[in-house]
Amino acid sequence: MIYADYNATTPCLPDAARLMTRMLCEDFGNPSNRASLFGRTARGAIDLAREQMARAAGAFPDEVIFTSGATEACNMAIFGVMERLMRERPRILTSAIEHPAVCMPAEACASAGAEWIEIPVDGRGRLDLEALSEALASPTALVCVMAANNETGVRQNIAEVVKRAHAAGALVFCDMTQLLGKVPFSVHTEQVDFACFSAHKCYGPKGIGALYKRRGLALSPLLRGGGQENGLRSGTENVPAIAGFGLAADLAAREVNVRRAHLQKLTTQLESEVRRRIPGVVIQSAEAERIPGTSMFSCPGLRGKWLAQLSGIVASSGSACASLQEKPSHVLQAMGVDPETAARSIRISLGMPSTPADVRQIAQALAKGAEKLRET
Ligand code: PLP
Repeated sequence: MIYADYNATTPCLPDAARLMTRMLCEDFGNPSNRASLFGRTARGAIDLAREQMARAAGAFPDEVIFTSGATEACNMAIFGVMERLMRERPRILTSAIEHPAVCMPAEACASAGAEWIEIPVDGRGRLDLEALSEALASPTALVCVMAANNETGVRQNIAEVVKRAHAAGALVFCDMTQLLGKVPFSVHTEQVDFACFSAHKCYGPKGIGALYKRRGLALSPLLRGGGQENGLRSGTENVPAIAGFGLAADLAAREVNVRRAHLQKLTTQLESEVRRRIPGVVIQSAEAERIPGTSMFSCPGLRGKWLAQLSGIVASSGSACASLQEKPSHVLQAMGVDPETAARSIRISLGMPSTPADVRQIAQALAKGAEKLRET
């Protein structure tokens, strides 16, 4: 089996897994128990991970809140902001290609009386900035635009989004889940107000993520209780996962240039081999700026499911959540791709263990599958 679904999830680094085992079995104290060495050791592990995460994101440690993943961080930012600002600024804007972790909370805000507007993208998946400015003419609490799309890899001009949103008095939430370890970035440079991250997208464990909240901004908590994470995320911290995330984030930031070069080289190889082997293939957003490692292939006119033909390759037809619901990708449809072609598109996402030989086999399998579906 060749694994080519790294945007869905990545294998956990053995060093992170070892650290987690130690935190589970030996240094297992409750970090709130500062009176015991056990507790202080656990607290120290969280403090270190917070510093590592902050450095990786270009933030201050006190701006990092650990959550159960990017989904929780999205929910926390959206509900936390809307609860505070809904009356004064009853509008939330999201790009039309956001992950369900953003769309669904926005939809819930709309059910609670907010006005939710989806800002369209063009055929390459780039946000329509003029439509954003028009929507910002009415008082808006929050603008949610992802930094890089999980299906196409397309990057957005976040600095411009922030400039326009801030000029209109709106806050900005940026889903940066797919950036960590693929391209260098900094939340402070981008000047976003909130951002989210997920450990399992960058060779850390599943079930842990982080919300970046700019210093001084207020947020209503989703979970209330013992007051952990500065009162913003109550519940005993998942110390092993936090420690594993810290290690993975630290390495992702340190190795980012090596990783970027590796992924870019393989992506270039994959796309040129696929173009050569499959006449009429479309590489979605090929002309837009993308993160390395992500290629979305469409092949109009195929009869049947292309993905089902890929024996020996683990890939997907879009985001993991879309596969779960077996719906055609809303991202491709927002870009103007017809639902049938969208449903038969294949996302190949490469990772650090991927090799040129893997890429060759993936291209071969894609070509073989397409040929078969054209014959039938
Ligand atoms: N946002 C993006 C862009 C993603 O790719 C994902 C993962 O599928 C998420 C959010 C949700 O992340 P998590 O699995 O940590 O909740």
